[in-house]
Amino acid sequence: FTTRTPSNAARGTCHSLLTVCQVHDELEKSFREGYTVNIEKRIETLKLLAYMLDENSDLIQASLQADLGKRRQEAYLTEIFSCINSTIQAVHNVRKWAAPQKVSTKFPTSLLGPQVRREAKGVVLIISPWNYPLALTIQPLIGAIASGSPVIIKNSELSENFSATITDLIHKYLDPKVVRVINGAVPETTAVLKQRFGHIFYTGNGMVGRIVQHAAAEHLTPTTLELGGKSPAFVADDANLDVITKRLLWGKQTNAGQTCVSPDYVLCTPEMQEKLVEACKKVYKQFYPEGIRNSQSFGRIINDRHFGRVTGLLEKTKGDVVIGGDRDASDRFVALSIVKNVKADDVLMQDELFAPILPIVTVPSMEAAIDFVRSRDHPLALYVYTESDKVREQIFEGTLSGSAVQNEAIMQVGCEDLPFGGVGASGHGSYHGKRTFDLFTYERAILRSKTWLEFLFTLRYPPYSDGKLKA
Ligand code: NAD
Repeated sequence: FTTRTPSNAARGTCHSLLTVCQVHDELEKSFREGYTVNIEKRIETLKLLAYMLDENSDLIQASLQADLGKRRQEAYLTEIFSCINSTIQAVHNVRKWAAPQKVSTKFPTSLLGPQVRREAKGVVLIISPWNYPLALTIQPLIGAIASGSPVIIKNSELSENFSATITDLIHKYLDPKVVRVINGAVPETTAVLKQRFGHIFYTGNGMVGRIVQHAAAEHLTPTTLELGGKSPAFVADDANLDVITKRLLWGKQTNAGQTCVSPDYVLCTPEMQEKLVEACKKVYKQFYPEGIRNSQSFGRIINDRHFGRVTGLLEKTKGDVVIGGDRDASDRFVALSIVKNVKADDVLMQDELFAPILPIVTVPSMEAAIDFVRSRDHPLALYVYTESDKVREQIFEGTLSGSAVQNEAIMQVGCEDLPFGGVGASGHGSYHGKRTFDLFTYERAILRSKTWLEFLFTLRYPPYSDGKLKA
């Protein structure tokens, strides 16, 4: 970028319930006045966002490390680089995305100047969770700014270091007539949800997703719900264990298992279970040569409440913990743990684990594995590890999920042109890249007729007569 005009907009965080209405009204005003819709303003805001992320990436990483033990390499690879790249992509593409599109209709309506314009729906609310607090705030924010919408961001109260850091940065770099942050917990979110929005974008658990959807219904506000669920990993008998075990365990260990698209559990035959456990032991040694407790590559559980939940699962499971199992409350460390011979009704198979625990459930066949998945909520992601295209298609065709992935884990999120979203209980709506811009805009049908065309359209006028139709 050649120019840089950071706004002087530090205003401090809005905490009080009274100011929620005020902030919302101010942003409504920006929108009504066309302030945020102006294409130059959108591009300027996106550039400032890119500068904000680039100039403060180390500060942001430090906050992620403080909250989640997220190391430099992991934070940059999973959150920071993608946010900067997506912002730059939006700067380059927003004019094209926002350009009116011609439509081809038949003569004579083609003469009426038909056009589709993608226009902003109004003030956007983004409610983000704690596990990838940067990416899950900034990625929707990029599309909302590009769409011409003013934005209210509600960060998670659980990732408190990150929330404080990003709040300061946003208020320092971005125009308060375009983006505002409201921090707080349930009372603040409840107050925000009472306002009328053009679109609500929520990422988090399904229980709160229902609260959001309910509040949105009051104003008939469209929503995107990015939820979670138990994402299965089918390991077929022909799987290339040397490669896929690394990918599977990397997917599970990333962010200490606190990833919405993390492989939640494995389905395989009893014979494959034994081979997989042996392969996991080897990979474990490769990933953590100094032992996982001392490793600089493994994160921590977000808070004491979640630490209690995760260790409780390990205590209550009736499966066999064959790898890991150790924990330390002093820094909320729970080792990556592999649990075999887990039954369908085990405590590990109830809710999404959101933890560094990988249960293995054995099934007699791939057909039985498909039935197992079909009998549960549709997952956000589904993984199949096989060398066979036939097996892959059998599983893809037999199931529903937000994404369906062969021989990989998590990588689908990094493909910007793929939709990112769920189906059924794992959410609705999808985003990333241009889709995020589309999400916060609607297609406005435009006609630009000329009065001199009147002679072509007189047939429509009364008095009606059969004679006119025959003429
Ligand atoms: P969380 O506890 O941070 O909650 C998410 C947001 O909801 C926060 O901003 C929080 O303040 C708000 N909130 C909490 N309780 C509320 C209430 N009663 N009323 C209104 N708002 C409330 O995060 P979480 O829900 O624990 O996040 C983990 C879940 O999110 C997992 O299920 C995970 O799979 C899912 N997730 C999904 C995606 C995705 O892209 N689909 C990404 C990350 C996480």
